[in-house]
Amino acid sequence: MIQTRNLAFAHPGAAPLVFADLDVPQGSTLLLRGASGSGKSTWLSLAAGLRSPSVGQITVARQALVGMGNAARDLWRAQAIGFLPQKLHLSDALTVHGNLALVYFAAGLPQDDAAIRHALDALGVADLADRKPEQLSGGQAQRVALARAVLLAPAVILADEPTASLDDDAARAALDLLQTSAQRCTATLVIATHDRRVEQAL
Ligand code: ADP
Ligand code: MG
Repeated sequence: MIQTRNLAFAHPGAAPLVFADLDVPQGSTLLLRGASGSGKSTWLSLAAGLRSPSVGQITVARQALVGMGNAARDLWRAQAIGFLPQKLHLSDALTVHGNLALVYFAAGLPQDDAAIRHALDALGVADLADRKPEQLSGGQAQRVALARAVLLAPAVILADEPTASLDDDAARAALDLLQTSAQRCTATLVIATHDRRVEQAL
């Protein structure tokens, strides 16, 4: 679940972005629409606790984010949030398997190799476990990033422009995988997009 009240954020030197109050029930899907530059990525960063709002309150996965310390917030994020960023941020220094293993490290949990294999398998990329991300196609890399996002069955999945630069078939497949993955862990799913194909597909 996600609840926001009077939420606003001002980037340095810019006019504040003011966001509508939202109540998103657990397990539902929210489409964050808006033109480029309207503040979608900024809102996602607030929901992930990567930024603190200039004013207002935000509660995500039963955690009030304002006033949390940085360490607690980083641990909370690692455990409760599955983030699929627009730029995937997979480490080319590690294998696909190693990239997923980092999730456990960040969350303070023992590494579960069987769960990593299972998550990759669910997204059809189990055979890529020993490759480096730079050896993957764009679509494969996105599946790996999604497997990483849902590995710990997060309460909330945040996806930033997940269909950008995908053709129609790949876009439909990506949305399908996102929704299936969210349903599998009864996660709340937020998709930020300015792609009109997304609302037609949902
Ligand atoms: P969207 O994701 O909807 O395209 P963003 O949240 O990325 O929108 O950006 C919203 C506004 O905030 C834009 O005007 C953008 O230029 C500005 N902005 C985004 N990130 C920064 C930043 N790091 N520093 C200053 N301004 C920023
Ligand atoms: Mg954006």
